[in-house]
Amino acid sequence: MIEQLNRDRVGVSIKDAVKSYGIFRALDNVSLDVAPGEFVSILGPSGSGKTTLLGLLGGFVQPTSGSIWLGDRDITFEPPHKRDIGIVFQSYALFPHMSVGENITFPLRARRLPKSTWPDKLKAALDMVELSGYENRRIHELSGGQRQRVALARAMIFEPGLILMDEPLSALDKQLRETMQIELKRLHHRLGATIVYVTHDQREALTMSDRVAIMHKGRLVQVDTPERLHDHPANAFVARFIGEATLLPVRRQNDTDVLLGDQVLKMAHRVPDAGSLHLVVHAEKLFVAEGSQAEGCNRLAGTVTDTLYQGESIRVFVRLDSGGDLSFRLASNHAGRALLKAPGETIALALHPEDTVIVPEAD
Ligand code: ADP
Ligand code: MG
Repeated sequence: MIEQLNRDRVGVSIKDAVKSYGIFRALDNVSLDVAPGEFVSILGPSGSGKTTLLGLLGGFVQPTSGSIWLGDRDITFEPPHKRDIGIVFQSYALFPHMSVGENITFPLRARRLPKSTWPDKLKAALDMVELSGYENRRIHELSGGQRQRVALARAMIFEPGLILMDEPLSALDKQLRETMQIELKRLHHRLGATIVYVTHDQREALTMSDRVAIMHKGRLVQVDTPERLHDHPANAFVARFIGEATLLPVRRQNDTDVLLGDQVLKMAHRVPDAGSLHLVVHAEKLFVAEGSQAEGCNRLAGTVTDTLYQGESIRVFVRLDSGGDLSFRLASNHAGRALLKAPGETIALALHPEDTVIVPEAD
């Protein structure tokens, strides 16, 4: 079964899709190409259009304009059951009156596959989600995590090349969610199926995905690898949404310099030519400006306002002389403590030009 899945994997594309409800545009000219075998997450706040986008792929939502492609097949007007796409929702949507086995084999029944093929497929699907021996259990006898695995097995038993998931782990508690994230990632590696995964949890999206598509108000703002999204956000919305960043207003001086207050900061990358600009400071990019390591770096001088012991690190809050507040971390070891200042003391921080990121305001 697993080898067959590899053979059938397929890419999916959305081309210039618009979805309007009356005068409201839930999707505003969205285009997305997902490569065969790729794991792409759709990440955005509630109401940004994630479920609507997934609905286009699954066939539950008809686009007002634009088209949907499965490989080189135009499926824009194909009904859901003809698309052969596995779907897992946030609520498990299992049939409560059926056993685990009956739930999982339901897609085989719906597709009228010969009954003689069912036992092998059921066994493989149960093995895959580590529920062997559970086929005769009732749904109400299972934990939340087990139910979600039944839903996964049901989505995969008919060997779809594309699996869609809409916040499948959001109903689970934190520990189980993390376990399931690892299991899903492992399954993806083993099966090689194409996965489009909706979540509003940025950590989940960053740790699981090959690429993440950031949605905001019905548009895809940036589609990129987790590293690129974190280090090179396209605008202030992405920068605020990803990671632990402080945004400080800056003014453009020329192609490589910006002004923070009246202080010049050097950039390794070209400064965007936009009206309203922000410096994006990630806590982990800042370090105390001492010694040769800080040569050629931008310096941010300020006063320590607070220190917070957080176990593995000490978080230090700083008010900058140029205006604005930010924080950075020191390792809670001997070297880190040697650099620690008390509230009220002055401190100089360094930021490498490569790590000095400027973004335009979002529209
Ligand atoms: P998300 O999944 O990101 O939370 P949705 O895709 O569910 O967002 O919804 C995007 C926007 O479209 C929301 O403002 C929602 O109210 C609106 N919307 C979704 N479905 C309908 C519908 N059937 N009729 C009218 N508005 C809808
Ligand atoms: Mg949703």
